[in-house]
Amino acid sequence: MTLITPSDDTEPTALAPGPERLDARSRRAWTERMLVDRREDDSYAVTTESGHTYRVDLAEHSCSCPDHRIRGEQCKHLRRVAIEITARRVAPPGRERARCDVCGGVTFVPRDAVPPHRCRRCRLVPGDVVVDRETGKRLVVARVLDERADEHVIQATGETVAEYERNDGYPAADRVVEATYLTDRHRRRRPRRYAFPRSRLDRTDEQLVE
Ligand SMILES: [Zn+2]
Ligand SMILES: [Zn+2]
Repeated sequence: MTLITPSDDTEPTALAPGPERLDARSRRAWTERMLVDRREDDSYAVTTESGHTYRVDLAEHSCSCPDHRIRGEQCKHLRRVAIEITARRVAPPGRERARCDVCGGVTFVPRDAVPPHRCRRCRLVPGDVVVDRETGKRLVVARVLDERADEHVIQATGETVAEYERNDGYPAADRVVEATYLTDRHRRRRPRRYAFPRSRLDRTDEQLVE
């Protein structure tokens, strides 16, 4: 299968997955030039090479083209919308396209999501192993807070995470991440949690499994 990257297409494009392996209708769904656009009401506008635009509604599994309306078939437009969502070229229903504020890549976020946005690769989840950019030490993410660095107060010192000297230069709007030192986990049953601005922590490919 061809690797498809999220695109900013404004012209109808053909996708090419190795069409020889597909049945005729799927082949057309992949290889014909179409432009898929998500509409405000969560339906999709599919414009074909000949300039026709059809409305595809995934929830109702319907398309306004004659093929679907008359024969009730799974037309190439319906298939194309499903293909483009799977390939992450268009937003799935209920979500919208956004730029990841960490890596700049395309991501799809819930409609009411407020920035900063994170793609799946840049988002931290509990158990992720990270490296502190300041000390090079490895930590394990305990949780990611909804609070920003300039909102979250460190109890021991009474300052916010953003005010803490070592966090100088990291964005005040960063989410706060609570993490424990990997070495502490071997020594204590309940290792102490420390609060960091998100960008001070670098992701690794490791996940702690307990
Ligand atoms: Zn159709
Ligand atoms: Zn990212």
